[in-house]
Amino acid sequence: MSLDPRRLLGLAFASADLLVELQGGKVRLALGAAQKVMGKSESALTGKAWVDLFHPDDKPLMEAMLGCADDGVRRGPVVLRLAGAGERNVRVVLRALPDNEGRVSAALTAAQPAGPPLSASSLQPRESFDDIAQGLFEAARVTGIELELAMVEFSGLANMRQGLSPADAAALDVRVASALRAEAHAGAAATKLSDDRFAVLRQRDDRPENMIKRLTRMVSAEASAHLVPLESGGGSARALRALRYALDDFLREGLKDTPPMSLSEAMNRSVKRTLARAGALGVAVSQRRFNLAYQPVVSLATGLAHHHEVLVRFEDGGSPFALIRMAEEFDLIEELDHSIVEQVVKKLANDHERKLKLAVNISGQTIGNESFIDHVSRLLSRYDGAKGRLIFEITETRAIDNLTLANQHIQSLRALGSLVCLDDFGAGSSSFAYLQQLSLDIVKIDGRYVRELADNGRDGALVRRLVELCRDLKVRTVAEMVETAEVEEIVRNVGVDFAQGWLYGKPSDKPSPALRTTATVTPLARRAGASDSWG
Ligand code: C2E
Ligand code: CA
Ligand code: CA
Repeated sequence: MSLDPRRLLGLAFASADLLVELQGGKVRLALGAAQKVMGKSESALTGKAWVDLFHPDDKPLMEAMLGCADDGVRRGPVVLRLAGAGERNVRVVLRALPDNEGRVSAALTAAQPAGPPLSASSLQPRESFDDIAQGLFEAARVTGIELELAMVEFSGLANMRQGLSPADAAALDVRVASALRAEAHAGAAATKLSDDRFAVLRQRDDRPENMIKRLTRMVSAEASAHLVPLESGGGSARALRALRYALDDFLREGLKDTPPMSLSEAMNRSVKRTLARAGALGVAVSQRRFNLAYQPVVSLATGLAHHHEVLVRFEDGGSPFALIRMAEEFDLIEELDHSIVEQVVKKLANDHERKLKLAVNISGQTIGNESFIDHVSRLLSRYDGAKGRLIFEITETRAIDNLTLANQHIQSLRALGSLVCLDDFGAGSSSFAYLQQLSLDIVKIDGRYVRELADNGRDGALVRRLVELCRDLKVRTVAEMVETAEVEEIVRNVGVDFAQGWLYGKPSDKPSPALRTTATVTPLARRAGASDSWG
């Protein structure tokens, strides 16, 4: 095949609208839709100082890209604002030509900004970093680009900055921000974690040593980096959560015992810890390697167990709280919730006396998905003896994204004969919004309010208000973590319907009757409420 220059040009234009050649910082040649992309004709661009064509806040970033446009390595794509009136953004890719004449070619297309505009010295705040990462993961999924998270540390940067005059410190900030943005995918996905630590989302196409060399050169402080590959195979939402988890875990645990540890060691530990835990959890979930514990929830009118809450236990037998949070971060929670419901439905169907009632915890993430409703509906038609005895507690460890949809699903569960309970009421900031927008049967008042009642002088006014509110909405209430008779007395007096806690029994491997049958229970009530008579 002959390499006809026109065919090469055709290939080049397939990915760019404008091709520019630079030498000595000036435009030597411009070919293509210059007017459309840059707002200037090809001839008007020729001879112009290249970096002056960009917005003052983005100029240092272009300088950083040019400054480290090593031979053969592609820099970018990066989205930059152009100088002049009117918001105009371009996506730029640079490549130094291997000709020893310092020529650099640039491919440009008109673009949308990747996020809110940044000043020359700023990086994305943590919040928008997540949003931008999400956009990148989406794009990466479509285009098959592989991304990785680079945790970067400049040793002694914070000290170095302290010794500088305000003007020099500001110049250093610009250098740091633009050097990092020049490495980041789309020129935007970089954020500051601490005074000398940063996170950069980059394309996995160039050796990390090269990046470290470029950063060290641009910032004049020694850089080190640790790289975390991010598989986008499980979908962008999953990749994003893994990224968020890695960053948070790194900040929370990695920096705790920092002084003697290098960044790379700290990061290695944190990532290993996270991946090991997530991997083990994934295996535990898929191989159903967990047990169920049961804790009675008693009716305060009869003193008898109205139903039992099902609590998952992993190999260590302890509180599953941290692993549940991780399951939510790594998209394992739906599989876990589905499989627990399945086991519980089978257990209910095997209870031939039809007395057992069981409440399963369902993550706010699971309830948003219609496949959960299909799953429950299939199970209940197959094991129809379980109908009417399966209760759901929607937990708030993870926020419910779409309340309208969640409410539709809750109504479907109620139509299938289940009671639905909102767990942890008062624990999160959205509890009242949930109560307003979801039609429920039961609200479980978060244990922290209940345990507080044990402190001297607490009269339960807050809990009383919650109970009144729920009564207006025709919703029954549960007080959890009732540990003492005094607390039981208070919650009963303020009108709570059900109670749960150590006073009536700790979670155990069988659903046992409530430990305590209260003074008000009459033999008649005992018989009327007779759900507590299995062994
Ligand atoms: P939760 O649903 O609020 O569960 C109540 C927690 O309080 C349980 O902790 C229980 O063992 C503990 N508890 C019960 N009575 C008392 C008491 O009187 N005093 C004190 N101090 N604690 C008491 P556990 O089992 O560690 O569960 C922690 C959380 O993990 C649960 O909070 C729930 O959000 C989540 N979880 C547990 N099992 C599952 C499950 O099967 N699926 C899902 N999605 N989440 C679960
Ligand atoms: Ca619960
Ligand atoms: Ca709770």
